[in-house]
Amino acid sequence: MRGVGRVARAVLTLGVVAALCAFVVLLVGPRHLGDGLSAEDVRCPKGLDDTGISLERFFGGEDEEPVSGEVRALLEDPNFGASPAAVEDLRAGIVDERLVRALLAITEEHKICADAFKEGHYFLPGVKDGPFIPEGYGEAGGLPNTHFYGRAVDIWDVDGKPIEGNGGDPDVRDVGWILAGLGRDERPDQIIGPPGWTRALDRTYEEGWILTKDQTELHRDHIHLGFTRENGTQNTR
Ligand SMILES: [Zn+2]
Repeated sequence: MRGVGRVARAVLTLGVVAALCAFVVLLVGPRHLGDGLSAEDVRCPKGLDDTGISLERFFGGEDEEPVSGEVRALLEDPNFGASPAAVEDLRAGIVDERLVRALLAITEEHKICADAFKEGHYFLPGVKDGPFIPEGYGEAGGLPNTHFYGRAVDIWDVDGKPIEGNGGDPDVRDVGWILAGLGRDERPDQIIGPPGWTRALDRTYEEGWILTKDQTELHRDHIHLGFTRENGTQNTR
C-alpha cells in the first residue's frame, strides 16, 4: 500500500507541475514561443522586455478595446517592442496618434524598444508623475509633462543597441534622420537625445530638437519624443 501511495503522490506532483507549466505558457503567451513575433526580435532593457500579452489582453479577448488602425499596426509591428505598461497605454487609446505615426515611421526601418508613454514613467525615482515635470529634473522642472498626457515616449534601444553609449551609432543616428524627414506637423516638437547624437544631427529648436546641455545630459540613455501641444506643433520648419 505504501508503494501505491508513493506512486499516487508522484502522479499528483507531476500533474501539479504540468498544470503550472501550462499556466506559465498562458502567461508568457505565444509571442515567446516562436511564432516569429518573439520579443527577442526587439531587445528591451532588462525588466522591460514585453511579452506583448497581458492577462487582461489574453483573457479579455482581442476585440474588446477598439484601437485605431495605426495603433493596431504598431502593436503588431515586429519591429516594435514595448514595456507592458506601454502596450496597455496603446490599447487604452491614450497615446497621441501623431506619436504613433512617428513611431511607425521609425519602425519601418529600425527595431525599437519603447519604454513608457504615460504609465510607468518617472522623472525621479519614487516620485509619481503628474501634469508637471517635478522641480529637480534639470531646468525643465515645472514645465508641462507631455508623458502625463500620452504625448511622449521614451525609446531605449535601436536595433538591439542601447541608446546609452551608442549616440554615434549609424542606426541610432538614423532614427534622428527619420524624424528630421517628417513634416513639421507630424514631427514631435520635443526631441531629446544624448549629447553626441544631438550634436551629430545638428538640428534646430525650430525643427523640434531640444538642445540645452542639461536636457541632453539627462537623455544619455534614451531618446524622448514628445508633442508639447494637444493640437499642432511648435515646429516652424
Ligand atoms: Zn521622456
